[in-house]
Amino acid sequence: MIFMKDKVIIITGAAMGLGQAAAEYLANQGAKLSLVDYNEEELEATAKSIRDTYGTEVLTVTADVSKEEAVAGYVDKTVEVFGRIDGFYNNAGIEGKQASLVEYDLEVFKKVVDINLMGVYYGMRYVLPVMQKQGFGRIVNVASVGGIRGVINQTPYVATKHAVSGMTKNAAIEYGKDGILTNAIAPGAILTPMVAEAFKQVNPDDPKAAETEYAQRNPTRKLGLPKQVASVVSFLLSEENGYVNGQTLAIDGGESNLY
Ligand code: NAD
Repeated sequence: MIFMKDKVIIITGAAMGLGQAAAEYLANQGAKLSLVDYNEEELEATAKSIRDTYGTEVLTVTADVSKEEAVAGYVDKTVEVFGRIDGFYNNAGIEGKQASLVEYDLEVFKKVVDINLMGVYYGMRYVLPVMQKQGFGRIVNVASVGGIRGVINQTPYVATKHAVSGMTKNAAIEYGKDGILTNAIAPGAILTPMVAEAFKQVNPDDPKAAETEYAQRNPTRKLGLPKQVASVVSFLLSEENGYVNGQTLAIDGGESNLY
């Protein structure tokens, strides 16, 4: 087990899905958490459950990551309460609606860009100076297999996730000298509320059939579980990771090798 005792970790999109699973995983290892989400009710429920289960310190900040002032706010609050930021899981993101490139709703397109691209950028813009002062930091940005290849009917998602991978490379080469390692993960289909919603869009009458069909295309014949992503993220956020920098790591059961 990788030791995260008293490490201060910010997680965005922490109320559910991958962010929530990472929060539980890291709390179990003794990390102090700053949990950020714009869904206040679900965020507080997640924080309460983690405090009750693991007894670890949990700060919550309700914030929309696409708003620069809100991002500056969650970073400031974390430093005010915990004094430092060891790890940053830059995870909040949305899928948007499924439609062809030409027919894509422009308002939805811009929203996906604001959250998935600008939200991830603002996060690094405000966290990196804190880590630079410390001379230490670990960042994990969340791309997707859609940041490695195309996905039919998901142009803004694919565009923004490729951008996350690109920004990760730049942060890695610009701040590696400061003891900061920045990586991205590229999850395949992991069973979270976001993916459940995607299967509903693919087959509104029978989302379970869409799920089963998708799983059959994976080398493991399974979809991934949030905890299987959390364990990899935990390693990348820890001091155990000493030399992995600027990578986009697929966590997809090997699916990306099929393309
Ligand atoms: P999810 O929808 O289950 O959870 C996302 C969380 O982020 C929610 O709690 C939501 O309230 C929060 N959030 C969304 N926009 C926000 C904003 N503007 N400000 C603050 N909080 C916001 O999604 P998930 O499946 O857990 O996805 C998490 C990340 O992983 C996303 O970036 C997603 O693109 C990426 N991803 C997921 C999968 C997957 O299979 N689940 C695959 C590839 C990439």
